This record gives sequence, C-alpha cells and structure tokens, in this order.
Amino acid sequence: MAKSKKEPKGSNVRISYSFMKILTGSDLSRRRLPVMSAISESLGPVVWLTACGHGDEVSGIVIIQEVFRKIRRQMVCGAVHAFPLMNPLGFETRTRNITVSREDLNRSFPGSVTGSLGERIAHRIFSAIVETSPTLVLDLHSDWIESIPYVLIDRDPGGPHKAAYKKTIEAGKHAGFCLIVDSEELTKTLSHSLLLKGVPSLTLELGGPYSVNQANVSHGLEAIWNMLAYLGVTGPRDSTFSYPLPPGYRDAKLLKYSDKPYGSKTGIIRFLVNPGDEIKAGQPFAKIVNAFGKHQETVTAINDAIVLGHSDSAAAFPGMPIMAFGVPPERAFDGKKPAPGPSLESV
Ligand SMILES: [Zn+2]
Repeated sequence: MAKSKKEPKGSNVRISYSFMKILTGSDLSRRRLPVMSAISESLGPVVWLTACGHGDEVSGIVIIQEVFRKIRRQMVCGAVHAFPLMNPLGFETRTRNITVSREDLNRSFPGSVTGSLGERIAHRIFSAIVETSPTLVLDLHSDWIESIPYVLIDRDPGGPHKAAYKKTIEAGKHAGFCLIVDSEELTKTLSHSLLLKGVPSLTLELGGPYSVNQANVSHGLEAIWNMLAYLGVTGPRDSTFSYPLPPGYRDAKLLKYSDKPYGSKTGIIRFLVNPGDEIKAGQPFAKIVNAFGKHQETVTAINDAIVLGHSDSAAAFPGMPIMAFGVPPERAFDGKKPAPGPSLESV
C-alpha cells in the first residue's frame, strides 16, 4: 500500500444547511427539502449532488452526508451543493414516486411553476441548480437489489449540447465504475434536462434500494471523491478508486445498457451468473423452472457483456427482463445483425 502523503491542506470552507419549501399539506404541515452547501473561499468548480428523487433509493442520502463529513478539511476550491432528500414523501413510505400525487419526480424535469405537484417540485430543484451554473451534477440512484454500481449516461442529446455531453463522459470516466449509456432516451429525467441546458450531468446507480448498505455507501463515496479530485475541488488522491471489474471492462469505455433477451416462459427464475461477471454470447445466464422444479427454459446471452444486475422478481413471465447487461458497442448484436451504431465513437 502506498505510503500516505500529507493530507492536502483545505481552504477555508463554509458549511451551511437550509431548507426549500415545497408543499403545505392539508393539515397545514409544511414540507421542505433539505439543502446542504460547502463553499470554499477560493473560486472553483460548482458541483451538485442530488439523491432520493426516487423515495425507495436511499443510499445516496447517506453518501452525501459522508461527503459533507469529509469535505471541510479537504476542499481546496469551488462549491459543493446538495439536495440529499428530493422526495421525502416517497422516502417515508418506502415508495419510488411522490406518494401524494403518485408522480415519478425523475420523469418530471425540468418541471413547471404552474404544473402538477411533481412538476412544481422539479421546477424548484431544477431552478436552484441551474442558477449556480454548475460544472457537474451527479444524481444518485439505486438499481436492482443484486447489482453492481455503475455510471449511467444519457443518450447523446446532440447538437448544441455536445460540449456538455463530452464533459459528462470525461467526468464519468473518473468514477472508477462501468460507464453505461442508456438504451432509451428518457427526456424528463434530471440529468437529461440538465444536459439540454448545457449542464454536464450523469446518474450514479449505486447498488440496491430500500435500506442503507455500507458497501454501496463506500463505493458511492469513493466514486464521488474520484470525480471531485478530478475537477480539483478536493486535492489529488493518494490512490484512485476503481471498482473491481473483469479485465476487459476496466478501461472506462462506454458500454450499452441492455436487459435483453427476455424469457418466454412463466415460472421461477434461477440465475446462473452473478452481477459483475463477464458473459459470452451464447452462454446460459438463467433458467426458468416450474413449481415442481421442472425445467421450462434456458435463457442465453445474445452479446458478450458484463452482468449489471439480477431482476428483483423471482417470478418469470414472457417478455419480462431477467438480467441487465453492459454491452461493448462493437459486440452488440440483436441476434441477427449488428445493432445500429451509437454515436459513441464521436464523443
Ligand atoms: Zn432511481
């Protein structure tokens, strides 16, 4: 292990905690979003951390707390702001959506001042972030219960947003995780809406939901610290964090997200490979059995890939995802012909 260097000397940093009002309830209770800020006396990059937009995806809250616990002594310039709990109504009821309006906050951006409750909350969050002209926004989420952490990058928004997209990918490469490009264009997420405003932004998928898992917290904290050091907000690291990945997947190249193939039978899923495993095209990755354990179907990979996660469901139905994969674009086949070339080479 490398001998520890002298800890970088931090600048004077002002830490503050405040609230943003979002709702007055029918019982006249006031609901607010907590806001955290660490501002250095030296000008520099502005980074936002956001978490728990999906109320059941909870590790990000604690990761942000841990970042703020460390940052006072190690920040050298710039500002780090955070919304650690964007959906308190969903969090308290262990629900993905905003409980009272049943909306998905992360499908409500950039929001609207006169829109639905979800859109109004999204608008307040989005406006607060954009007015600080951020260098980078990291939105913290959780994936399936059994999954490895990864960086999720939106599809290329193209045109005038190219510069922000390139900066997003450069920052993502420093997280120490797999870099996965989304398979569909989700246009009302926080990260995509920010890219359309020219703000570099990505999503961190940090293991499973529902409870605070210490391994997920550690991985998230390390990845964020890598990126803060890359931006120069904190001092250089003695050693850069890398999540353990198979050899072919260690160089932070862009992979395509895929949850295919689906199964075609009803039954019980038995997984044959684990999150983080490398898998080859044609390799069986799951079998479906019936209630007596009788074999119904073996499902095989259509691409060389890394396994990102297992479905949370034990029950299989035709057309339902069983596993998620990160697929190298040059090896992405749909079973017949090469998949349409993504614009990944150009970024
Ligand atoms: Zn989420």
